[in-house]
Amino acid sequence: MTNNISIIGGGIGGLVTALSFDKLNIPYRLYERAESLKEVGAGIWLSPNALQVLEWINPKMLKEIQDAGNIFNRILVADHRLNPISDSSQSFVQEKFGYTTMAIHRGKLQQILYKYVAQEKIELNRTFKAYSKNKDKSLKINFTDGSFVNTNSIIGADGINSNVRKQLFPKSKIRYSGQTCWRGISDYNIENELASVGFTLWGKKLQFGVSKISEGKVYWFAVKLSEPNLIDDKERLKEELTNMFSEFHPLVNNLIVNTPENKIFRGDLSDLELLNKWNSINICLIGDAAHSMTPDLGQGGAQAIEDAYYLSNFIPQYDNLETAYYKFYNYRKPKIEKLVKQSRLTSKIAITNKFIEKIRNFILKKTPESYMKKQMIELYSLDKTIANKV
Ligand SMILES: Cc1cc2nc3c(=O)[nH]c(=O)nc-3n(C[C@H](O)[C@H](O)[C@H](O)COP(=O)(O)OP(=O)(O)OC[C@H]3O[C@@H](n4cnc5c(N)ncnc54)[C@H](O)[C@@H]3O)c2cc1C
Repeated sequence: MTNNISIIGGGIGGLVTALSFDKLNIPYRLYERAESLKEVGAGIWLSPNALQVLEWINPKMLKEIQDAGNIFNRILVADHRLNPISDSSQSFVQEKFGYTTMAIHRGKLQQILYKYVAQEKIELNRTFKAYSKNKDKSLKINFTDGSFVNTNSIIGADGINSNVRKQLFPKSKIRYSGQTCWRGISDYNIENELASVGFTLWGKKLQFGVSKISEGKVYWFAVKLSEPNLIDDKERLKEELTNMFSEFHPLVNNLIVNTPENKIFRGDLSDLELLNKWNSINICLIGDAAHSMTPDLGQGGAQAIEDAYYLSNFIPQYDNLETAYYKFYNYRKPKIEKLVKQSRLTSKIAITNKFIEKIRNFILKKTPESYMKKQMIELYSLDKTIANKV
């Protein structure tokens, strides 16, 4: 029924789609613009919904990812001096799913995923330019180097600035959140009691997130309200960041000081205005190309991974790709729309003024633990019955 699907983009979403297609014998080729997948980027948190998909693909691969990263036993939101606002032991998550959220170097994760994909189906150094429709309903993909391929279908996994999406839905809009973010990997041995905690410090109109990712390496992110498109003076960057966070717990500045300048990356935070469909006939979007969200819930990558799982399991269940893509969107829409809205709201309440900060902290402290647990279980749940139908 299906043959020759072209995946554009070999980020987390594209690679996990390729791995899922390999598992279900769905024919495809993947085209990624990078010349090689080097160990670049900072860290990423992987929640149990993502880990369940990786386990479904290959338990050995999941184990390799877990061994390369750091597993949390607590997730903590604290004020700027590290006094807890909300502190969630993850033992109930461990009991329910068999593992908890973990953190890993993003480049390391990508390399492990890449290693497990059927290598002959991946083409690096291939930058998608545009598609056109052939007379027989197949599609022609043009690459920027002048080459082209014919294909039955395209999956756009090419991230928030997706060129596939720009051609498919030209009116789609990226919304700047009003916040910019620095991410870094610090050479630092974090105190034992914080080594298994994923935590964020909220306060003073700033936000700072921390997690150990491996021995002697700590991933951090710093968020501030800002005009978009500003560029750092690299030589003064660490001084500016340490001044910015001078009133925070001393750990914050220790982490910044121990980060090599070339391991600090800056990016403005944006999301995508919700689309009311992700496909048109035989072209479908997944991951950030379809539903980029602000990073406040640490769910963008996990949702790209969930997309790969559901999409690959829907394809064999329908006799044409258009129906499978349409059913996939309808199935994913409620969870995705909720998360896009919640992430944006969280980005606003994490960085706020002093008055709202007090009310926010009060409400968070009073939120019943049972409610928080229910929300997390719902977020991390994956429908395994879908895979059983294939
Ligand atoms: C500061 C920050 C922190 C985050 N933290 C987390 C976290 O802790 N947990 C989490 O789950 N998510 C997190 N996210 C979100 C996560 O990074 C994204 O949701 C995730 O990377 C989306 O994966 P993707 O494969 O859809 O897109 P991407 O990761 O953007 O991958 C797109 C791929 O397509 C390729 N590409 C682009 N254009 C072309 C083209 N024309 N031709 C060929 N290839 C192309 C790119 O090179 C890239 O490899 C965070 C995001 C930010 C900004």
